[in-house]
Amino acid sequence: MRISGNRSDVLVVGGGIIGLVTAWRSAQRGLRTTLADPEPGGGAAQVAAGMLAAVTELHYGEQTLLGLNVASAARYPAFVAELEEASGQRTGFRACGTLSVALDADDRAHLRELHALQQRSGLQSEWLSGRECRRLEPMLAPGVRGGLRADGDHQVDPRRLASALVTACERAGVVFHRAWVRRLSVVNGRAAGGVLADGTELGAGQVVLAGGSLSGRLEGLPEAVVPPVRPVKGQVLRLTVPRAYAPFLSRTVRAVVRGSHVYLVPRADGELVVGATSEEQGWDTTVTAGGVYELLRDAHELVPGITELPLTETRAGLRPASPDNAPLLGPTALPGLHLATGHHRNGVLLTPVTGDVMGHVLATGELPEVARPFASHRFGRPPAAPSHDAVRAPVSQEQPA
Ligand SMILES: Cc1cc2nc3c(=O)[nH]c(=O)nc-3n(C[C@H](O)[C@H](O)[C@H](O)COP(=O)(O)OP(=O)(O)OC[C@H]3O[C@@H](n4cnc5c(N)ncnc54)[C@H](O)[C@@H]3O)c2cc1C
Repeated sequence: MRISGNRSDVLVVGGGIIGLVTAWRSAQRGLRTTLADPEPGGGAAQVAAGMLAAVTELHYGEQTLLGLNVASAARYPAFVAELEEASGQRTGFRACGTLSVALDADDRAHLRELHALQQRSGLQSEWLSGRECRRLEPMLAPGVRGGLRADGDHQVDPRRLASALVTACERAGVVFHRAWVRRLSVVNGRAAGGVLADGTELGAGQVVLAGGSLSGRLEGLPEAVVPPVRPVKGQVLRLTVPRAYAPFLSRTVRAVVRGSHVYLVPRADGELVVGATSEEQGWDTTVTAGGVYELLRDAHELVPGITELPLTETRAGLRPASPDNAPLLGPTALPGLHLATGHHRNGVLLTPVTGDVMGHVLATGELPEVARPFASHRFGRPPAAPSHDAVRAPVSQEQPA
């Protein structure tokens, strides 16, 4: 077994956007922080559309999650300003708003219900006639029957966000190991670090498991703390809007077509993201003819002009989904082990609040109020009361047995 030079206060397993934001906030709190991932900044963010859709992603039965989504959306402008300053990189954040439209009478009735739910939930959205929708977005199909304008649902480019987080982490002193963590180390009933694929041992006072849809597969996790997270496949297309066609769409446009959600997210640089399928296929990330066909068919019904645009990329990614579609945050029943996973289809939106919550819990041992409904242990055993060690373990060269 190889022994890594330094023991850290915090080891983050997984460098998707959730692991990265956790490591960044941890390092900013003065905790010596290590992150392991063979490809930091990879993961679902390389596929995700980056909608920050607290209002238009509201679903029945998810009103608790709404509170966290709204809290994170409110933090976004300050978060990206801080991240862009810290990294020297742009994140592609656009305060452009979203328009959800209905293509037939059933969609219209569904959107009307959603509007009522949004209003009962205190959210800002405005009902528009089909004509008003087309006045806002002239590329919409003539048959659009009405829509909901949500001026607070913005977007960010998740690839740029991930890249900026990697740089911000490096500048804040996070130590990167570009490797898989094969196994969690548990010493005297406490998480004590991880063992990399080449046998290198990384000791740590606290461990954060942020492995996305792979979080439940880490060896060495006691059964009581294995996170109930599964992969939900999403296929996405990327098209390019030539300069001569701009502005093709000025805001995110979305609809439910034949029961499937379709959205078009226009970036400032001309990229147009069309998504997304939602498939229970295990860890398969194959792009299928059927997936591409359905997305193009539905997007074409919404915005017929897309058939003129170059198709530049097709890709599939995995959303880390929990049984209630909400994230799992903070301490587990295994002292020293925290979760930051299960963000499902809102991980980009939830990045700022997750960073704040995880930074706080790692530094103080306390889960902030906003995160209490999303405690890691809600599907299993509650955590032991935090000890002083759980907050900041003494740093030494000692190797866990
Ligand atoms: C098609 C699609 C569209 C989406 N659209 C949106 C959207 O519009 N808005 C939104 O808010 N969200 C969206 N999402 C969701 C969002 O992308 C995810 O919730 C978020 O990216 C999850 O981030 P994560 O860091 O938790 O997990 P991941 O991105 O899966 O990252 C986990 C990382 O952990 C690493 N890892 C795992 N196990 C180990 C280990 N043992 N050792 C070391 N490393 C390990 C992996 O290599 C990976 O890099 C979308 C997702 C998909 C797939």
